[in-house]
Amino acid sequence: MIIPKTTEELSLMKEAAHVVSKTLGMLAKEVKPGITTNKLNDMAEAFIREQDAVPGFLGLYDCPSTLLTSVNEAVVHGLPTDIPLKEGDIVAIDCGAIKHGFYGDHAYTFEVGEVAPETKKLLEVTKNSLYLGIKEFKNGNRVGDIGYAIQKYCESHGYGVVRELVGHGLGTKLHEDPEIPNYGKRGRGKKFIEGMTIAIEPMINLGTHRINQLKDGWTIVTRDGKPSAHFEHDVALVDGKPKLLSTFDYVYEALGIVSDEEDEFRHEFI
Ligand code: MG
Ligand code: MG
Repeated sequence: MIIPKTTEELSLMKEAAHVVSKTLGMLAKEVKPGITTNKLNDMAEAFIREQDAVPGFLGLYDCPSTLLTSVNEAVVHGLPTDIPLKEGDIVAIDCGAIKHGFYGDHAYTFEVGEVAPETKKLLEVTKNSLYLGIKEFKNGNRVGDIGYAIQKYCESHGYGVVRELVGHGLGTKLHEDPEIPNYGKRGRGKKFIEGMTIAIEPMINLGTHRINQLKDGWTIVTRDGKPSAHFEHDVALVDGKPKLLSTFDYVYEALGIVSDEEDEFRHEFI
């Protein structure tokens, strides 16, 4: 069952999403060779609690950490470790927070120092595909339209679109209906309704779309060992159009990146 939100609820959800947005912005300055993902995790937990919020993943489904940190061939759900990040790595950081009873949940894949050009391209295409998916979240469209847009674009670059893990509705629960796959057919699936809120999160592999799960019961890795990227935004359907609850503004500010990619999706939610 899809649970649409009121205007007031959307405003609270934006606050929850922005706790995560600011956390990713704080982490953007810290991601460099030598730092461990355990250290990033500890910093993130303290930073979230300072904002009168609580970590959204910690304890949920027995998750042991505040962040999920997926390095290189890890797709998603990587657990933080004491292994230092090294030059040329990529790390997808997925973070959740609860504020006012609502979840924020989004992710960004960071470069550690200088990364290989083909990896850089994977990150660029994956992030572009996220916005192509967001554009399809509009009145009259259906779940399959988002997946179709993401899949078509990423496969045109020869990349693998992960099938087993998907985006989702978001609200007072981390995972609400509907599921939002990153593959699909135009005009298929559930119809979007005003006030609904979803997390769109392409997980795109440089090589095969096939994956394995590690023995830790969490980490998902590419079957061919090639890198994978993950970007995620929280989005609401307002006046029939997609409006961002989350933002990468804090990440871009930290990294000195100038971007207008979010401009058409901005909304005040008040
Ligand atoms: Mg997430
Ligand atoms: Mg998610």
